[in-house]
Amino acid sequence: MRAMILRAPRAPLELSQLPDPEAGPGQLLVRVRACGVCRTDLHVADGELPDPKLPLVLGHEVVGVVVGGTRYRPGTRVGIPWLGWTCGECQYCRSGRENLCDRARFTGYTIDGGYAELAVADERYCFALPEGYGDVEAAPLLCAGLIGHRSLRMAGDARRVGLYGFGAAAHLIAQVARHEGREVYAFTSPGDREAQEFALQLGAVWAGSSLEMPPRELDAAILFAPVGALVPLALRAVRKGGVVVCGGIHMSDIPSFPYRLLWGERVLRSVANLTRRDAEEFLELAGRVRLQTRVQPRPLREANEVLAELRAGRIVGAAALVP
Ligand SMILES: [Zn+2]
Ligand SMILES: [Zn+2]
Repeated sequence: MRAMILRAPRAPLELSQLPDPEAGPGQLLVRVRACGVCRTDLHVADGELPDPKLPLVLGHEVVGVVVGGTRYRPGTRVGIPWLGWTCGECQYCRSGRENLCDRARFTGYTIDGGYAELAVADERYCFALPEGYGDVEAAPLLCAGLIGHRSLRMAGDARRVGLYGFGAAAHLIAQVARHEGREVYAFTSPGDREAQEFALQLGAVWAGSSLEMPPRELDAAILFAPVGALVPLALRAVRKGGVVVCGGIHMSDIPSFPYRLLWGERVLRSVANLTRRDAEEFLELAGRVRLQTRVQPRPLREANEVLAELRAGRIVGAAALVP
């Protein structure tokens, strides 16, 4: 099969010919139809996350069709997400928090992912995908959507929700928030009119620069941009008792800030990975509520170019590689 391989952090991916992978017991073999490109892929490729498998096939928003395995019939369309395996034994696994498993393995990071023609995955961590979404359109549901959903849940019943960084995750979760009757305030890089317009089209009541204060106090803010300097800005924008959720896996350092920004029982928390339950809930919701996904399909061999565009903030919505 053809795959884009990361041989070392900070090196470009190489288009390579590899032996076809084979499904072991309890695994699915999947023919990849599309694989979303996530910011986490950049963090892995850039060496910001420790100890990746090397060489590695990146990609954890894998949409494919089953060609081998037992849980799903051949021909079933499935998704392979970031969470690839958990131990089932540690204190986190036993308390419904497998996202925090000490020994968890992750698709496209510590196990091979979907920047390839074929992929193998533990079938217990794969999901049938809702109908009504094309293969490319479904790809960002698998991480951007799942992490966005978990982040929104951590915001509780907040009515006015700020989204900092309006990319793949925010464009999906803004629609979920609207569906739930919440107000969305979208914060983008200063001057990113295209993203602001996009947010307004998707129903945000306000869109502006992340350096601005919103017109009303927020009940919660979710940070998808990997920029620590946004944390004090978001704390300043939320009301007493409000919550600021950091949705990314990596973030630049958070600058020091006056205690009064946190005072008033404001809460600052992160969201790490996802559980299978998150996936079931979110994919069920995505089947019921047709989310508009904006995804550019790109050939697999252009993975390096797509990653560079994501790094430069030039992708509106999301992008997915098509083998
Ligand atoms: Zn565990
Ligand atoms: Zn991701």
